[in-house]
Amino acid sequence: MGDQYSGIELLKRPLVPLTFLVSGLFLTTGLPGIAATVAKVKENITLDGVFYDNPQVILKDYLDVFEPYERFKRGELKNRGRLIVDLDHKPLDILAGTILEIKQELLRRELGHINSALCGQYHCTICCQGPLEEEENSFFELPLTEEEVPLFPLPGIDTTLTRSANAYAEPPLMRNDQPFYKTEPALYRWRQGWGLILTRGSFCPNLNRDTGRCLIYEKRPGVCRWPQTFPMVLEKVFDPEGVQGIASANGVSLNDLTDKDHYYVSQEKILAVWDCPYVQEYKDDIIRFAELSSLEPVFRRNKK
Ligand code: SF4
Repeated sequence: MGDQYSGIELLKRPLVPLTFLVSGLFLTTGLPGIAATVAKVKENITLDGVFYDNPQVILKDYLDVFEPYERFKRGELKNRGRLIVDLDHKPLDILAGTILEIKQELLRRELGHINSALCGQYHCTICCQGPLEEEENSFFELPLTEEEVPLFPLPGIDTTLTRSANAYAEPPLMRNDQPFYKTEPALYRWRQGWGLILTRGSFCPNLNRDTGRCLIYEKRPGVCRWPQTFPMVLEKVFDPEGVQGIASANGVSLNDLTDKDHYYVSQEKILAVWDCPYVQEYKDDIIRFAELSSLEPVFRRNKK
């Protein structure tokens, strides 16, 4: 998918309009599955002014994303195991929440292809280093999953103190009698999970500074695949007490939730990091991509 089309071609041809058509057709007809529905869409279709040259080929790597619709139609999707809420913290019904979950995953994959294609052409390593000396921030944090931590040959700091704090807590965690961000880069197990802290003037140990290339590119963590433009259809909020409060205020049983640490807020946004050169060059295309995806584009700086 990503190899067949250039990054800018993918940016100019968002998938959401096509998937609206397919999912609407599937949910309102007797068609037996998403693959059978995609097969019914004619070749060479134009939607919202965007030309799709072969919907079956374009969507072939995404069909599994729509599997929850098939379970919903069979009446098997009774409980999603996580709390999805609107901006007023009211839980969404099963179909409304499922639509947003599918859209989040679709855009996560789609923007992963676009970011990889566009980022590479700039040989940019901004996301792989800590703040510059003249910048205001003291550190740059890359959130990691438990499985991604061993990819980084750095000290791992996991104590009762780190587990009760986060990188932005005041007063800051002390390490070797200094605020942690004045010491060497390290991996910290905060309350909400692991983070790689790149301190001012430091570089990720996986960056080859001579070539500007990532030494673990194929295995690089999720945060490195969506650093520039990423979907926030749903915002994942770490707040175990908040989950309990929302559940009890709305008659949701905690026993029905498999994720009791997070709730997910419907934000319907695309975030684009203004530090990145491709985001600045393709700003208008990113705005158009967001509009066609029925999302609000938000541009912001990561480093100050
Ligand atoms: S793992 Fe690779 S892509 Fe991620 S910050 Fe390090 S060098 Fe950059």
